[in-house]
Amino acid sequence: MAEAEAHSVVIVGGGICGLATALALHRKGIASLVLEKSRSLRADGAGIGVHANGWRVLEQLGVAAELRDTAHLITVYHDVWQQGDKTSREKVPVRTELRCLNRKDLIEALAKDIPAGTIRFGCRIAAIDADPAGGHGAVLTMADGTTMKAKVLIGCEGTYSVVAKYLGLSPVRTIPRPVLRGFTWYPHGHSFDNEFLRLRVGDFFIGRLTITDNLVHFFITMPKPPTDVNTKDLKKVRDVALKKMQDVGCPAEIIDIVRDSDPESLNFVTEFWYRPPWEVVFGSFQKGTVTVAGDAMHAMGPFIGQGGSAGLEDAVVLARSLGRAVDDADGAGKDAPAPAREKMIGEYIRERRPRVALLSLESFIMGALLVRSPSPVTKLFCVAVLILLGSKSLRHAYYDCGRL
Ligand SMILES: Cc1cc2nc3c(=O)[nH]c(=O)nc-3n(C[C@H](O)[C@H](O)[C@H](O)COP(=O)(O)OP(=O)(O)OC[C@H]3O[C@@H](n4cnc5c(N)ncnc54)[C@H](O)[C@@H]3O)c2cc1C
Repeated sequence: MAEAEAHSVVIVGGGICGLATALALHRKGIASLVLEKSRSLRADGAGIGVHANGWRVLEQLGVAAELRDTAHLITVYHDVWQQGDKTSREKVPVRTELRCLNRKDLIEALAKDIPAGTIRFGCRIAAIDADPAGGHGAVLTMADGTTMKAKVLIGCEGTYSVVAKYLGLSPVRTIPRPVLRGFTWYPHGHSFDNEFLRLRVGDFFIGRLTITDNLVHFFITMPKPPTDVNTKDLKKVRDVALKKMQDVGCPAEIIDIVRDSDPESLNFVTEFWYRPPWEVVFGSFQKGTVTVAGDAMHAMGPFIGQGGSAGLEDAVVLARSLGRAVDDADGAGKDAPAPAREKMIGEYIRERRPRVALLSLESFIMGALLVRSPSPVTKLFCVAVLILLGSKSLRHAYYDCGRL
């Protein structure tokens, strides 16, 4: 029988976290192989808000300057709550860096500096086993039945992670909540401020983020998925959303943004995924030299807009830790011995767990307030915890995960 292919560091998943991890490792002089199930780079989801903590990571990775050129600074949260004839408004300045990126720009910026051949497309991992010979961390089985050995295995394959399952983590939980996202392009420029508009009208929660003078990202969170339409037909989903938005009295300005959106940019999800904060506190994130990062470790839904940036932070901390294992093995390019790799992955987990546990808690509580209609007592408790976490002042965005 042919020998299974063997690699030093294998990353499963070429999304934001997987690519950032490969790039961070490359910057530390450590080669890796990224296995991505799609046939090409995936950039679903239209826009992504990146806060100051994420920008610090992008700086460390050497891609911040080019990405800053693609998106304006968002300076204000503009909250509008429309209830019947009454409308309340609040504008809160954003005191840290917040920009809404086109996910495609982010993914491409991360991928372009990774050495050729690092990303292998069309490789879906179906199962993970411990290496029976003990020399390697894990044996991966692909969907086509071929196998590969990895001394270090990092699961960055998002919510339905095979690596997380191998580590004994529970499947992520879901909150049914349909969201339509997209971009609207204004060839002659738009008239919106550089703000994150958050509009509540009826059961709808709508967001509008300015990207450039000509480009706007929007999301529409609906109470229920549209019925009687094929939800893969995104233009039809948009038509249903528009009709319902009109019915609840959504402002014409917002209706126009959605109606004029680029059909190619539309993205629709029917649920949010999250790992409850107590599982992030107690979950097993390591088995030997196998670990997880990004949503595979701490899926947290979109409620505080930190899932992507937290995955970027993971990448830096993980590469820094593995870099230390290589340094201890006497210089870059050398393969660190298994116990050193295992120890450094343990350090990565110890460093990340408190940070991602607090983010998961904040997102969980924000989600409870936004989608679960809690009792007044629970609501009071949730608000008190958010105050303690410094949610309103975006304390989570001030975090600095340090240098690569
Ligand atoms: C509606 C919505 C809005 C959001 N808004 C924001 C925001 O504004 N800011 C923010 O920071 N975060 C936001 N998030 C969260 C953010 O999108 C995620 O945290 C982030 O995309 C996670 O990145 P990841 O690389 O860990 O996982 P993913 O992006 O899920 O990437 C996983 C990759 O692994 C691949 N893969 C999966 N399984 C396998 C397999 N078995 N074998 C090989 N490859 C595999 C997939 O094809 C994919 O490319 C939002 C999420 C949602 C749902």
